[in-house]
Amino acid sequence: MVPKRIVNKRTVSEALHNFRWTGDIHGEVTPLVIGQVIQLCNIISDIHLQIGVQDKHIWRLSSSGQYTAQSAYETLFQGSTSFGPWERIWRSWAPSKCRFFLWLVAHNRCWMADRLAKRNMPRPALCLLCDQEEETINHLLTTCVFARQFWFSLLQRIGLGLLAPQPSDINFDKWWQAAVSSVDSSRRRGLNSLIILGA
Ligand SMILES: [Zn+2]
Repeated sequence: MVPKRIVNKRTVSEALHNFRWTGDIHGEVTPLVIGQVIQLCNIISDIHLQIGVQDKHIWRLSSSGQYTAQSAYETLFQGSTSFGPWERIWRSWAPSKCRFFLWLVAHNRCWMADRLAKRNMPRPALCLLCDQEEETINHLLTTCVFARQFWFSLLQRIGLGLLAPQPSDINFDKWWQAAVSSVDSSRRRGLNSLIILGA
């Protein structure tokens, strides 16, 4: 609402003096403009410029007020989320389609009975393999007796049968994370790949 010719030459000090900035507003004064003017009045009512004090730049993103490349870089990631199992999934030797499946598993995006139920779509009442529990992805990959048997027979072949899910393991990702962190780092990539293929 302030013409460019005014914006370009008006100083902050001039604008603040006797509310001169309100006179700079041109054009149609809509309720939106009035709302913004009131808001701006409130914001700047506490600002008192000191005569003779030089302007200075303050970098708001660091506590010292000084600009640092690090603080600017870190700001780029504000509000971002991290995806815990990314390394286990993407840094494995498993084929892409299998890794993508595990990515869906990690986001609980597989069309299991629980997900179908939320959309009121046809689904089995109980797991089709064991007929004991609701079919969820965690059940199918971890808590189902068939899954536990499968993991045991698979991992037993490489001497890691003890790592197979126990009845206390109810979350696939937590089980996977714990299993992988219990072997030494040189075997992790191989074990990740095997678990992805197994799943
Ligand atoms: Zn089952």
